[in-house]
Amino acid sequence: MAINIKEISEKDKNSVLHPFTHLKDFATGKFGEPTIIETGKGIRIQDANGNQFIDGFAGMYCVNVGYGRTEVAEAISRQAYRLAYYHCYAAHTTDELAILSDRLVKMAPGKMNKIFYGMSGSDANETQAKLVWYYNNLRGKPNKKKIIARERGYHGCSVLSGSMTGMSFYHDCMDLPLPQIVRTGAPHYYWGCNPEETEREFSARRAVELDQLIERLGPDNVGAFIAEPVLGTGGITPPPVGYWEAIQAVLKKHDVLLIADEVITGFGRTGSMFGSERYGIEPDLITIAKGLTSGYFPLSAAIVGDKVYKVLEDGADKVGAFSHGYTYSGHPIGAATANAVLDIVERENLPANAREVGAYFQAQLKEKFAQLPIVGEVRGVGLMGAIEFVADRDKKRRFDASLKVGARISKAARDRGLIARPMPHGDILGFAPPLVTTKAEVDDIVSIAESAVRSVMDELVRGGEKI
Ligand SMILES: *Cc1c(COP(=O)(O)O)cnc(C)c1O
Repeated sequence: MAINIKEISEKDKNSVLHPFTHLKDFATGKFGEPTIIETGKGIRIQDANGNQFIDGFAGMYCVNVGYGRTEVAEAISRQAYRLAYYHCYAAHTTDELAILSDRLVKMAPGKMNKIFYGMSGSDANETQAKLVWYYNNLRGKPNKKKIIARERGYHGCSVLSGSMTGMSFYHDCMDLPLPQIVRTGAPHYYWGCNPEETEREFSARRAVELDQLIERLGPDNVGAFIAEPVLGTGGITPPPVGYWEAIQAVLKKHDVLLIADEVITGFGRTGSMFGSERYGIEPDLITIAKGLTSGYFPLSAAIVGDKVYKVLEDGADKVGAFSHGYTYSGHPIGAATANAVLDIVERENLPANAREVGAYFQAQLKEKFAQLPIVGEVRGVGLMGAIEFVADRDKKRRFDASLKVGARISKAARDRGLIARPMPHGDILGFAPPLVTTKAEVDDIVSIAESAVRSVMDELVRGGEKI
């Protein structure tokens, strides 16, 4: 049943408001036609013209089990036939939801207690903020409300989660960020370090800055710190040596809760089940989404640790029912999807694959790219990685933004059949392939990326860039 490409394109252009698309260029046709993605299998997707792509970004860092897993489709279908929907208000539940929640409490690092469900990472982080406020109101600290988030952090794009996000283009013309959110420095050694400063010294400096910020705001006014174990959309940047240890000491000292945003790092991407395990992080609250269902169904969760949950339970006599919930909280199809996906994650031991194949991937990226004259840094962990391009390696000078080097390299890769994402904040090519990726597939990804990078490097030289 072939689709009518022209008809679908017209309908799309007339009616879809696409995220992160230049609206005028798209409307006038300058952007080109929409890409109609039709099918997917393993790490590959295919468009309506029959072009195949290796999806080096797992959709949006989420299709961890790969495309076309029929057992997940069957679990979705089974649940839809059995019971497509019921809510979980007032102690209603389904078998899939209870099983999933028991599983997540046991899987998650640290002393976790309860799971609150949403549909997206954004709404789950929104829930986390409300939990922090609720918790501090109930324990008689009504001013302990500011939430500290980092430059270059990504936590979503709803009003509150978008305020936590530390990228100005998410705020411009949108009346954000809200004043409840306060910013601290990015854990980005390459761009943030002082001359001669070691990674450990840089981490210590970030911790001192955080300490001073909390002192300045007053510890009684600071409720939580939210951060990704590995910086994701802000540049796919693993934490510098000593970072989490130093930061957590500051948070403990000031009784500030730690929200680990594990939306990308949860369920194996770093080579551990959770990024918190990999980096010795002891969160009070954990946010999960993407990998929870591998994107097969929208589902997210705020995982609530013992410390916060006990206060909520004790406060119930005072405030009555916990008044927060979405129509689709604990959606039975979402729960069934997550159970089927986590069965695969556990049976195929995808965290171990991400560790082993990921180590190979990181080594290949370093080997093929680190010495190129336009590469400033190659970085990553497990199956997430990035190459950062600069005009001058020694002086760490960026390319002129008008050259659009990152976007051109991403396009050159796409023309060769590989999706790798141009990340904001400079000229960065990002990778986050499905966790089922094999070493042979890593070779394919790296060789296409190398051809793309070299072609743009040649273009730059021909265009008179000195490199
Ligand atoms: C994607 C992402 C979110 C937001 O999730 P949505 O489902 O897009 O709302 C939040 N935090 C991190 C770390 C993410 O990568």
